[in-house]
Amino acid sequence: MVSALLRRGARALLALCATLALCCAAAAQPAPVSAGPPNPKLIEDLVAAGRILADHGLLDGWGHVSVRHDKDPNRYLMSRGLSADLVTAKDIIEFDLDSRPVDTHGLPLSGLFTERYIHGEIYRLRPDVIAVVHTHAPSLIAFGDTKVPLQPMYHRAAFIAFGIPVFDIREKAGMTDMLIRNMNLGHDLAEALGDHPAILMRGHGAAITAPTLQRVVARTIFLSLNATLQADAMRMGAPITYLDIEEARKIEAREGHGLARTWEGWKKKAMAKP
Ligand SMILES: [Zn+2]
Repeated sequence: MVSALLRRGARALLALCATLALCCAAAAQPAPVSAGPPNPKLIEDLVAAGRILADHGLLDGWGHVSVRHDKDPNRYLMSRGLSADLVTAKDIIEFDLDSRPVDTHGLPLSGLFTERYIHGEIYRLRPDVIAVVHTHAPSLIAFGDTKVPLQPMYHRAAFIAFGIPVFDIREKAGMTDMLIRNMNLGHDLAEALGDHPAILMRGHGAAITAPTLQRVVARTIFLSLNATLQADAMRMGAPITYLDIEEARKIEAREGHGLARTWEGWKKKAMAKP
């Protein structure tokens, strides 16, 4: 009995030492160096991106949008942990690709988004990606849970023809609270994303990528809308003619046409709110 208690005590002590060693190692790591001030227009658009997606019911206090730093591809910009509709320029923080903040402006790490590793690891594996959104959009959940493939219903969502895989965290990490809480899980997600424009996360939401901030906002809006339209069409029970990959390629080649005027409209409406 006594020896069992001693063994348990020794194990607890070892675990405490290991935790302390990890904490000390983390504390000893110097904060990453800033790439310098980003273009103010980029910050303005990042703030607008979050507000537009909040306006569409696609972000709230849990989802987030980020953009790669215009001065250094190894840095990205994202707000501190704050509801997207409340973010202003002063809430934007610079991160390195390990998702370590350059400067938290006095905030504890708990004041940052837990799932920022989604962004850092996608930027690390995908040099072509300039902007990332993580959303818990309700319309996408059924497709992630059933693994019924999302298909392109209409031209605005043509990029879906390039394939939207599903990431199941259970296959990588067993039973979790579903969150991408560290670099390893972020890496697994980014690897599953591969070259695709977006990925669904079973029982959770999605991560969407694009070569510009404006396009990632548009893709998030139209991915969600497409899911609603596809579910509607599937309920009709008749055969569905989705966009062909060739049609999608032609649309993608000119994607962005008209987006600038749409973006200005979305932005004006979202930023007019107090
Ligand atoms: Zn999430």
